[in-house]
Amino acid sequence: MTGRALVIVDHQAGVVGQGQLGLVAQARAVRETVEALLFGAPSAEAVELLGRCGVSTVHLASSEALNVPVAQPRVEVLIDLLRREEFDVVLLENSSLVADVAAAAAVRLDAGVNWDLAALEMRDGSLVGTRMAVQDTVVVEVGWSGLPALAVFRAGQLGPVPPAEPLVPTTRDVDVELSPSASAVRVIRGADSALAMTGLDTADIIVSGGRGLGGPENIALLEDLADVLGGVVGVSMPVVDKGWYPYSHQVGQTGRTVRPKLYIACGISGAMQHRVGMSRSGTIVAINTDPRAPVFGFCDFGVVGDLTEVVPRLAALLRADVRA
Ligand SMILES: Cc1cc2nc3c(=O)[nH]c(=O)nc-3n(C[C@H](O)[C@H](O)[C@H](O)COP(=O)(O)OP(=O)(O)OC[C@H]3O[C@@H](n4cnc5c(N)ncnc54)[C@H](O)[C@@H]3O)c2cc1C
Repeated sequence: MTGRALVIVDHQAGVVGQGQLGLVAQARAVRETVEALLFGAPSAEAVELLGRCGVSTVHLASSEALNVPVAQPRVEVLIDLLRREEFDVVLLENSSLVADVAAAAAVRLDAGVNWDLAALEMRDGSLVGTRMAVQDTVVVEVGWSGLPALAVFRAGQLGPVPPAEPLVPTTRDVDVELSPSASAVRVIRGADSALAMTGLDTADIIVSGGRGLGGPENIALLEDLADVLGGVVGVSMPVVDKGWYPYSHQVGQTGRTVRPKLYIACGISGAMQHRVGMSRSGTIVAINTDPRAPVFGFCDFGVVGDLTEVVPRLAALLRADVRA
């Protein structure tokens, strides 16, 4: 195996997300050398972590214009690096920001981009990506006809990185003179910050509620159980549509893809569009009044019962246990 892969990492205060580390493992599977482009203030912690996962060189791109979630300065830095150095695969984890960066880079480099990937592999000397299609009911294989190949992975899809031979990465400052328009953008209000604040992407425990909640007043039951377990609240789409809880907490095909250690689905039927967002959770517990609900077909533990009775009792038992 030869070639160089570049993993794009946008760290927040030194914290590199699990999905971005997962990109490193994907890159290792298809290229001999894996390097990273790190956006944000230089962070020794992030560089060390990337080295432990097998990254040999970290390109540090830090400038005031990169401290805000805006695509254009990132595009200019990435294009400049790709024009100067020969990377044949670029891996990114999707977000609204990354979608803009990948699309602009593909146009300006005349490169191919594939979205929503779950995995990458080499087959007969060619790069092959796997993605789900038709509302996640069909697995599709995709390829690239030109280089560099831009590979955008579905957010929340990738798990922890399998151990690699730890490296001490070389760091290189990326010195790019940004165009006036790239450095002129000022962010007045960040709607995406609500998404980051939920903690859904990194939560070990998620207590999720669906239409079976019956009304917004019962969200407090989920919040209480999440509180005692040290988890966060997720919801299904109808709960958002009815205005009971913000979209930033929606799990599923058009919400977040999550993979906590424990997912408790309360009053959620288990429709395919919800399932695709949480099926990779470690242990799934379902609480539902209908014994024929589809969720009982794929959960690990099921309780047939009314969530307004089961959830508070569970919270009270756990609280008593914590105190004992
Ligand atoms: C393109 C597209 C994208 C979509 N994206 C998403 C998405 O991102 N996320 C998502 O969640 N959905 C999504 N959906 C909607 C999805 O198809 C389902 O309609 C939705 O997931 C159902 O939500 P639910 O389980 O809360 O509601 P329901 O299917 O109505 O299920 C409610 C469940 O609550 C149970 N129940 C009722 N009362 C109680 C009680 N007191 N205690 C316990 N259980 C009770 C019922 O038995 C039932 O099983 C999408 C649909 C489409 C077409």
